[in-house]
Amino acid sequence: MIRQAKGKTPRRLPPKKASNSQKDPVGVYCRVRPLGAEDEECCIEVISNTTIQLHAPDGLKANRNGEFKETQYSFKKVFGIKTTQGELFEDVAKPLVEDIIHCKNGLLFTYGVTGSGKTHTMTGSPGQGGLLPRSLDMIFNSIGPYQAKRYVFKPDDKNGMEVQNQVDALLDRQKRDSQTTVPKTPTTRRIDPEFADMISPEEACKADGVDEDSSYSVFVSYIEIYNNYIYDLLEETPIDPIKPKPPQSKILREDQNHNMYVAGCTEVEVKSTEEAFEVFWRGQKKRRIANTQLNRESSRSHSVFIIKLAQAPLDADGDNVLQDKNQVNVSQLCLVDLAGSERTSRTRAEGSRLREAGNINQSLMTLRTCIEVLRENQMCGTNKMVPYRDSKVTHLFKNYFDGEGKVRMVVCVNPKADDYEETLLVMRFAEMTQEVEVARPVDRPICGFAAGRRQRNQAFKEELTRRLEERGGPLDGESPTVLNQLLQSFPPLPPCEISGPNDDVTLPRLIEALEKRHKIRQMMIEEYNKTANMLKSVLQEQDSNLLSKENFIQEQRGKLGEKDKMLQNQKNEIDRLEKKSKMLEYKIDILQKTTNIYEEDKRSLQHELESREQRLQREMSEKRRMEARMQGIVTDSKLKWEKECERRVNAKQLEMQNKLWVKDEKLKQLKAIVTEGKTENRQPQRPSREKDKVPAKRSASPSPVPTGPPVRPLHRRSHSAGGERWVDHKPNTNVDLDTVLQPNLPNAIKVNAPSEKALSKCDKYVLTHQEVASDGEIQTKLIKGEVFKTRGGGQAVQFTDIETLKQENPVAASRKRRSSETGPDGEPKEGDWTDVETRCSVAVEMRAGSNLGPGYQHHGYPKRRKP
Ligand code: ADP
Ligand code: MG
Repeated sequence: MIRQAKGKTPRRLPPKKASNSQKDPVGVYCRVRPLGAEDEECCIEVISNTTIQLHAPDGLKANRNGEFKETQYSFKKVFGIKTTQGELFEDVAKPLVEDIIHCKNGLLFTYGVTGSGKTHTMTGSPGQGGLLPRSLDMIFNSIGPYQAKRYVFKPDDKNGMEVQNQVDALLDRQKRDSQTTVPKTPTTRRIDPEFADMISPEEACKADGVDEDSSYSVFVSYIEIYNNYIYDLLEETPIDPIKPKPPQSKILREDQNHNMYVAGCTEVEVKSTEEAFEVFWRGQKKRRIANTQLNRESSRSHSVFIIKLAQAPLDADGDNVLQDKNQVNVSQLCLVDLAGSERTSRTRAEGSRLREAGNINQSLMTLRTCIEVLRENQMCGTNKMVPYRDSKVTHLFKNYFDGEGKVRMVVCVNPKADDYEETLLVMRFAEMTQEVEVARPVDRPICGFAAGRRQRNQAFKEELTRRLEERGGPLDGESPTVLNQLLQSFPPLPPCEISGPNDDVTLPRLIEALEKRHKIRQMMIEEYNKTANMLKSVLQEQDSNLLSKENFIQEQRGKLGEKDKMLQNQKNEIDRLEKKSKMLEYKIDILQKTTNIYEEDKRSLQHELESREQRLQREMSEKRRMEARMQGIVTDSKLKWEKECERRVNAKQLEMQNKLWVKDEKLKQLKAIVTEGKTENRQPQRPSREKDKVPAKRSASPSPVPTGPPVRPLHRRSHSAGGERWVDHKPNTNVDLDTVLQPNLPNAIKVNAPSEKALSKCDKYVLTHQEVASDGEIQTKLIKGEVFKTRGGGQAVQFTDIETLKQENPVAASRKRRSSETGPDGEPKEGDWTDVETRCSVAVEMRAGSNLGPGYQHHGYPKRRKP
């Protein structure tokens, strides 16, 4: 039956979900209940109709210094102890009821510690009905005349609503009637004294602007969330008084519109306030029984009463509900009586109850966390995940916070001192909740049918019944009805009284008249049929016209919905991008600032670098200047010192030579004295080396010191002089080298071993000594000496001179010659070069200690020997 309806209407998202960017904060109201006893200490003061002030009770003030002074909390409205249930309803719940009637969802919950008046506010008591019975009453007062027959709307078990056809609905109604023992009409029924007189008739109120071209049905569910388990309080389970079955918990599911609902939860269709409240009371009783049986504390559970209002437009002729699931609108109002918000059990909690207490607090804590995260996300533009799923209560109402719908909270407070600390926490949470914003619900799209269908249909029906009644009335012609008029339009009947048996006029006349009438009737029927057919075709045409228009409208509406959605998406995207761009701008700003700082740093460093470089440059040039100066100083002082040294050396040399000469002179004189017999006539004179030593053929350079001291005091003749006799000692080992300078000794006695005999005849001695020099050449040394007669009659040689002769490479001779071109005295010896011997070797006589450079290959060392 339902499937049939399903087949007809393909599933598609109802267009109502076009969300709104407008947001409203959660409405938080505060209700202060009267103190239990007049003389109790009060710690709350209502200081205006939006603000209350808490002050710490005396005991606490003494204990904590300054922490608990007066604190003020502001709400949308504060209701003092004298506030009536009606006044509270007017402000808090009435707008929500108006919303539900206009297809918008609402959530209302009471929050506070146990005993603060939550249940009193939500449910109330006889004579003091709370928000729940009042809401129900207002709904029924508003939709009363427009309610659909029972079972026209049928929940689809997926949080949606279907429209049943009339036959199915009728069958369901008959089934219900046969099953229930309850009298069909609630007015005749006995009312439970427990919930009688919840609302007095004079308090009844009604919503404005109810769409009377729609048909309505109210469904209620009642659940309890205890220890984070969901229980259906309206579930019909056979009660076993001996062994009661523990109630089965329900799970939460998400419907195709992403709304959360309790899967398999009983939804009872109710047609009046009384019926609805009776259902509520039934659930309440069940709850009480379960709590007693399972030893639970009702203050620790959350109770949720859900009022669902299904509405669908009437069809085109305003007679029945339109058989289109997509046109069904379901809105709901959730009334939640939360568990006591106290942190610890007020009664002695033991064993399993302690665990429960933890869970209850956990669910309220989750509620607080969710609100906190929502608030943070909204205020700081963050996108933190809201932990709705952490508890059943928050998970069930996730859509209200995430999606759309009004959310209101009544914070109940008991001004007694004992509750003070808990109340503080309640107030803080309540104030924070006000900062959360929830999307404002959007208006329901209008259905495509012309307005006023219900009224027209009503009027038509009334007219019809009236006419039918009229038709069934007397035909006496007293009232000028249509029928009478019609009858009068026929030709009048002739008198039909038969005068006698032979009267053959009356009957034929009557027959004729009747035939005439019959003909007229026939004609009229034909005319009528013609007109009716015409009218029918016109109507059909109109109908098809209307249908196509309707289709067109439907199509357009669909498109509009899509466009709306697109627009919304784009708006969201824009919002997101704006947020992102703001974020990026902020980042850029920061980066800019950082860059500036770095640039500043860079500039200063550059500056420093430059100044350092300049300094370095300056120091370098300074250093160079210094270096140059030092160099100058060094060379100056070096030169000075060199000169000084030379000067000193020369002076010293001179001095030393003079000393030497003096000594020599003394020695000569001494010798002269010793050898006075032999050298009596000799005049001591300064020997001249040049004269002595440089024979014409010799290439010896003159001594750089022109005044060398004499080695011997004796006068010596030059080599070339014929008066001297030489012992020419040439050992046998000597190599006879042709090119080697051979001393030219004319009267020499040649020996190859020292001989006393030869020495006694001569006064000069020369030893030709050969050795291999370091450069591999044979070096010949002429070691010269003077022969003295010793006192003992022997001979002694005193060596006076060494001449070194070197075999020269003739190729290298030119170089050598050049190098010896100038002697230490700078005089070139022209004559020497003509002699072959001299060309082969050069002897240089040097004074002792002379420091001449390597330009002098041949050295003559004047050796003095002590006799
Ligand atoms: P809660 O549900 O928060 O635990 P209740 O609603 O059960 O508290 O209230 C505890 C008691 O206080 C009840 O007896 C109730 O009648 C009473 N009470 C609460 N609020 C009020 C009020 N505003 N006026 C009068 N009595 C109240
Ligand atoms: Mg309560």
